[in-house]
Amino acid sequence: MNNFILSNLNKLKQISIPNPEIDLRVLLNYSKYVKNEIILSNINIEHINLKKFNKFLNRRLKHEPISKIINKKSFWKDDFYVNRFVLDPRPETEGIIEESLNLIKNKQKKFTILDIGTGSGAIAISLSREFNNARITAIDISDKAIEVANKNIKNKKLLNKIVTKRISIDKINTSFDLIVSNPPYLSKSEYKDLSIGIKNFEPKIALNGGDDGLNFYRKLAQKIPKIMNKNAHLIIEIGERQFNSCKEIFKLSGLNYIKKRQDLQKKDRIMLLSKL
Ligand code: GLN
Repeated sequence: MNNFILSNLNKLKQISIPNPEIDLRVLLNYSKYVKNEIILSNINIEHINLKKFNKFLNRRLKHEPISKIINKKSFWKDDFYVNRFVLDPRPETEGIIEESLNLIKNKQKKFTILDIGTGSGAIAISLSREFNNARITAIDISDKAIEVANKNIKNKKLLNKIVTKRISIDKINTSFDLIVSNPPYLSKSEYKDLSIGIKNFEPKIALNGGDDGLNFYRKLAQKIPKIMNKNAHLIIEIGERQFNSCKEIFKLSGLNYIKKRQDLQKKDRIMLLSKL
């Protein structure tokens, strides 16, 4: 391998970036002048826009996630535009899509969905891909997040299927058949212990659930039963140690617990509930 590659790999290794070869390859491919894919062993330095590459590399050396540098993250069946104003969609959140598919067997069904705290729009867009006739409302209190969601919805040509609103859940006064959400749920101490990559480059507003991480569930539990149609369901992401508390919080507000789902690390991650 040539010196250019070795020295840049070393820079990444020195600060313990987990997969330096993969990251270097991605950054090179996002800084190249040529069309064909660059692999580390065949690099021709003349094919690289060095100014661009160095900018990207320096960002990575400050622990900025690759997704934020290249403005792209994959989720379910799509790639999404992401930036520092939205949480990167995470694989465990795909459980919300899978549970929706388990719940609603008829993919042509006409029904309404509300996505609370949509961020990049990844959940709303993925549900729209699966349920062609669903009418989806995606809300977020962050202006900048709504801009990102709109950009993704426009890119996927789903403007006629998904309506976005910069609005808090308090202001919703229509009812839905399915409500989904990945709310902020980290406790104060979990937030404090996050890696620099997440803490410095992902929005705190999308992660911070207050002292015990449960603030949002308490708030949602008050409101959600009032905006559910008859036979409506709630599919919600939870923190790995929050199952018992969340079950209790939603029970007190009159929702019926149906099931939970674990993520690939066998941690409680998704809950399915219905209106009693
Ligand atoms: N799973 C996320 C994390 O640990 C937290 C997501 C959230 O708060 N909704 O980074």
